[in-house]
Amino acid sequence: GRRSESTLPDVAERTLVAVKPDGVQRRLVGQIIQRFEQRGFKLVGMKMLQASEDLLSQHYSELRTKAFYPSLLQYMTSGPVVVMVWEGHNVVQTSRTMVGPTNPVEARAGTVRGDFSTHVSRNVVHASDSPEGARREIQLWFQGQELVQWDCCDQHCLRGA
Ligand code: GDP
Ligand code: MG
Repeated sequence: GRRSESTLPDVAERTLVAVKPDGVQRRLVGQIIQRFEQRGFKLVGMKMLQASEDLLSQHYSELRTKAFYPSLLQYMTSGPVVVMVWEGHNVVQTSRTMVGPTNPVEARAGTVRGDFSTHVSRNVVHASDSPEGARREIQLWFQGQELVQWDCCDQHCLRGA
């Protein structure tokens, strides 16, 4: 019933978003964070790091047979990345919509890729493509204690009962 729905805790969905090396170099980190904050998602983990080839080969394991894979690893190790975990209602799918299609030529203005990129090999940002993928990627990039559970004071305003 309606009452139990509104009193049950939200089953928190999480996704991994990363600002790729070109996004960090171009000082887009703040603008990208701002988009997720203003949409109403909750930041529960964030760090900057120089990703290793080993980590990236696990992250992109599905793509290892692609012709662009070596250049993808080169791109992703070319400088630091900022990785984040965002939480909220339908955050995985909504983040993909906010980020836009893989190839910026298809990305509409208003999406991160549609506003900040022109080429698929420099597409500024990563977002997990499914809840299962998100769980796998979050475990890969973060230790459990690096994720922070906290109450957002406006969380009851961000969804219906
Ligand atoms: P995403 O989930 O939208 O990031 O796309 P994919 O998981 O299919 O690919 C991962 C990343 O590989 C993309 O974001 C691009 O950075 C890169 N990539 C995908 N397709 C191509 C391509 O055809 N050429 C190049 N150079 N890079 C690509
Ligand atoms: Mg992907």
